[in-house]
Amino acid sequence: MRDVCIVGGGVSGLAASIFTARAGLDTLVVDGGEPILARNASLENYPGFPDGVDARRYLQLVREQAGTAGVEFELGRVTRAEPITETALEDGFVLETDGGEPLEARRVVAASWSDSDYLVPLDVGRLQRGSKHFVDTDDAGRTVVDGVYAAGRLANEPHQAIVAAGHGAKVGLAVIHDSEANFYHDWVAPAGYFTGRGRDIPPACEEIDDDERQRRDEQARQTMLEAFAEPFDAEPTMHPSVAQE
Ligand SMILES: Cc1cc2nc3c(=O)[nH]c(=O)nc-3n(C[C@H](O)[C@H](O)[C@H](O)COP(=O)(O)OP(=O)(O)OC[C@H]3O[C@@H](n4cnc5c(N)ncnc54)[C@H](O)[C@@H]3O)c2cc1C
Repeated sequence: MRDVCIVGGGVSGLAASIFTARAGLDTLVVDGGEPILARNASLENYPGFPDGVDARRYLQLVREQAGTAGVEFELGRVTRAEPITETALEDGFVLETDGGEPLEARRVVAASWSDSDYLVPLDVGRLQRGSKHFVDTDDAGRTVVDGVYAAGRLANEPHQAIVAAGHGAKVGLAVIHDSEANFYHDWVAPAGYFTGRGRDIPPACEEIDDDERQRRDEQARQTMLEAFAEPFDAEPTMHPSVAQE
């Protein structure tokens, strides 16, 4: 059984997965479609890209980062989620997908804007606005059902990529804190930052020396140079209701 299954590989689900996987939790992202950010024509309000970035290129980089963190991916649309045993939520949840094997996980993060129908058997509490349903959560993405969380737009967060990413990260941290993971902060600090003050390096933190810092910087620059070397070979996805020629 997985520690956590994240339903939805958009920016919120991927951000949550990066945090949970880096904290050592066995993390699966299952996605049955395409992130809504793939419809964007030029992402210009995401901090860190002074002249904007191709949204599909950005999504590919986030998926790559999740893979590096140890996240596994599965294609499939989740159709139903329910507790493995009716009486004990700590036994985990089983997720049915269209066509694939059922997936089992101790915790479930719904990051599947705009589908939450599969959560109906869990009675997590949904809010309807027009034709859309949002999942009711506390500030950290916890629903009323222990072990079930919601992230990003599905959790009624504002409709911006950076907000979805930040909320996904926050929900990932809630999952980590509710789990057995030994965790303080996900920080990489220069050598001596903690130990130079006679302190142990806190769990999930790391100290690296200058050689290692330069090695990582070299690798990061290489990755980004390759990623941005050519125009991205995919166009924005049009709204489904707009007729295509
Ligand atoms: C045309 C357009 C332009 C935009 N431009 C900008 C912009 O310039 N700047 C900005 O900040 N924001 C922009 N946004 C908004 C931004 O894209 C979203 O707010 C943000 O990406 C939401 O991320 P999310 O992870 O919550 O949802 P999503 O990215 O939609 O991710 C949800 C994922 O869940 C999957 N999924 C759904 N149901 C299931 C299921 N049952 N089982 C498995 N998988 C499932 C979907 O396939 C999808 O991949 C734009 C949106 C659109 C439509």
